[in-house]
Amino acid sequence: MKPVDRHLADILATVRPLAPLEVEIEAALGAVLAEDVASPVPLPPFDNSAMDGYAVQAGDVAAAPVTLPVIGDVAAGDGGLNALGPGLVTRIMTGAPLPAGADAVVPVEWTDGGTARVRIDRPAPLGNAIRRAGEDVRAGDVVLREGARIGPAQIGILAGVGRRRVLVRPRPRVVVLSTGAELSEPGTPLGAGHIWESNSFMLAAAVREAGAEGFRAGSVTDDPKEFMDTLDAQLLRADAVITSGGVSMGAYEPVKEALSPLGTVTFEKVAMQPGMPQGFGVVGPDRVPIFTLPGNPVSSFVSFVLFVKPALRAMQGLPAGPPATVRATVTGPVRSPAGKRSYLRAVLTGETVAPVTGQGSHQLAALAAANALIVVPEDDTSLPEGAEVEVIPL
Ligand code: AMP
Ligand code: MG
Repeated sequence: MKPVDRHLADILATVRPLAPLEVEIEAALGAVLAEDVASPVPLPPFDNSAMDGYAVQAGDVAAAPVTLPVIGDVAAGDGGLNALGPGLVTRIMTGAPLPAGADAVVPVEWTDGGTARVRIDRPAPLGNAIRRAGEDVRAGDVVLREGARIGPAQIGILAGVGRRRVLVRPRPRVVVLSTGAELSEPGTPLGAGHIWESNSFMLAAAVREAGAEGFRAGSVTDDPKEFMDTLDAQLLRADAVITSGGVSMGAYEPVKEALSPLGTVTFEKVAMQPGMPQGFGVVGPDRVPIFTLPGNPVSSFVSFVLFVKPALRAMQGLPAGPPATVRATVTGPVRSPAGKRSYLRAVLTGETVAPVTGQGSHQLAALAAANALIVVPEDDTSLPEGAEVEVIPL
């Protein structure tokens, strides 16, 4: 059997970062920056007031309370050409340029709010309530680096440095296709021998949570031709494909039957539980990566965490490797088959981790009750209560 780490290494050696694309900043949410972004100007671009109040010379208000003549108003958006002589003040609004000669702003709350003359009740230290040019960003400073995930604040700074468009690696478009003659769409009546189809919903959601676009292509029966026709139709819009089911050792394994003859997808047993039957390769003229995951819901979920999620990071130009783990103490004994790495569904609370009841790879409710996977190494067949284990938080 193939070790888990080698399967991931093969996948990461195959997938490539998506080509960068210039997009409007509104469309960049969730994408990964593919350039360093520098500011062409200092931010703030000019000295300005941090408060509504009065621009003064600090020395003139040192002996407050004092009453001084108000020579005018400076509002946000004014060109900033006015100047202030000794003994004079101007009203000033938040964001308005500081008049030449002023070296402090007195907040309106420290005054009587006068418009012709103003009584100032408290002295203001030099530089009070002034935002200096360049104190956030100097001209030429890089504000975002290549590889940054673009969230709302990153879109904010892109706009703040005057950018309308930006070079990003787009969110990979991932098609999710389930197979199984026994599958019924949720929301429709359950026929004899059927179960409701859950994997495509779960995997498409996992794709979205991983920063990519997930599209459900629904499910097909166990007819290899139907599978292949649907896959061909979906390939046009896919940067990657995930299938579920149809890769085990039984009869009626449409994914294996349809893709094996291509010679570009390898099906193998990976030394893990759940999720032993795995397939990976490329399909179509564009050599789109395809992950053929086993159909048992917990197996497909764990396979996604271990193999697909890191691949989606690599496609976004992000550092990619095995999922991060933490260490915790297990609350009860656990068992694991020899020669396979186990991923037990568990609840992680602080530094302890409790396996959930129901470790079957079909037990989706138990997965939904878990928030972590306990990793039991290949060579361990049992661990006692109190053992320290590696845990993948979900
Ligand atoms: P397979 O890998 O196709 O042999 O399927 C293994 C098990 O997973 C079977 O019990 C299937 O009924 C179940 N299964 C396969 N695909 C799905 C799916 N999309 N949603 C829920 N269960 C599934
Ligand atoms: Mg099946």
